[in-house]
Amino acid sequence: MKPVTPKQPVLFIGGLGRSGTTLVEKLLNELPTTFSVGETVHLWERGVRDNERCGCGQAFDSCPHWQAVGQEAFGGWDNVDLERMIALRWEIDRSRRLPQIFAAVRTGRTSKAQREYLHNIQKVLFAAAKVASNNAAVEPRELVLLDSSKHLSTAALLACDPRLDVRVLHLVRDPRGVAFSWTKTVARPETNKELMPQYSPRRTGIRWVTDNLGFEALERLGVPRLEMRYEDFLDAPTEAILKIARFAGAVPQSVAEKNGGGVLPFLAGKSAHLTTPMHSVAGNPLRFGGDNLTLCVDDLWKTELSGRATKTVNRVTGPVLARYGYSRSA
Ligand SMILES: [Zn+2]
Repeated sequence: MKPVTPKQPVLFIGGLGRSGTTLVEKLLNELPTTFSVGETVHLWERGVRDNERCGCGQAFDSCPHWQAVGQEAFGGWDNVDLERMIALRWEIDRSRRLPQIFAAVRTGRTSKAQREYLHNIQKVLFAAAKVASNNAAVEPRELVLLDSSKHLSTAALLACDPRLDVRVLHLVRDPRGVAFSWTKTVARPETNKELMPQYSPRRTGIRWVTDNLGFEALERLGVPRLEMRYEDFLDAPTEAILKIARFAGAVPQSVAEKNGGGVLPFLAGKSAHLTTPMHSVAGNPLRFGGDNLTLCVDDLWKTELSGRATKTVNRVTGPVLARYGYSRSA
């Protein structure tokens, strides 16, 4: 009998963009048994091809972590057929391919293109765990990788890989707050030139409904999911992080035993002091932000989102608002 290779644990941070995924990722990255790889869906383009900055602040090709990962996985990033990986990503990992990806999750039968893509992503994830575990006193398979790609399609695709133990943290934020955030003009810090895309409140509302229901559907196909409202996370961050860590299998012994398991050294009430470097590719500007954070709900939308936009979001998301604990009145 062949020895069973343990699966690589991956906590996938999913949800619509601007739902607090980056902040939650930064905080979870402080746990001694986690390691954030960032948004792997954008690795090939924004990291390997465009050499954008890693979460540590260095350009991708100057970041020692990612260089070591490329070496471990492929003998160097130069050995990757980059055009092929980018083409594959756009061929298989996108919202319009959800029927095919969900079919693969349900049946366990992946297409040739899906297998080829997963083979390479899995190499990257295994290498990231190996490199990161050299700096942590754990085995690679004891480390929970945090993938904050957010997209439902990426979560479902990763869940097709039998060598990965994928669990989904499904973050939900008030759709009016999300919609407001997507109307704002934000510069992309990786390049200093481009702006983050902007979306209309109607489009954000529709995506909010389809994404959230989609993550529920993925759970019905057997992929473990923990649903958490961003507002609840900020309300009691220590409890929320410990709950997520338990779900992900990332509760370190030192935290579990200390003070009855209810204390995190990097959190005092709503103040976080972050000390762990973050080597995440792509993602929200916040990942470059300071090491001292005050955790509070950004509810500027309550005064700044126009009445018309609020009505639009309410109309589009109305049928499922209550399902996630929100009401039409702010
Ligand atoms: Zn880095």
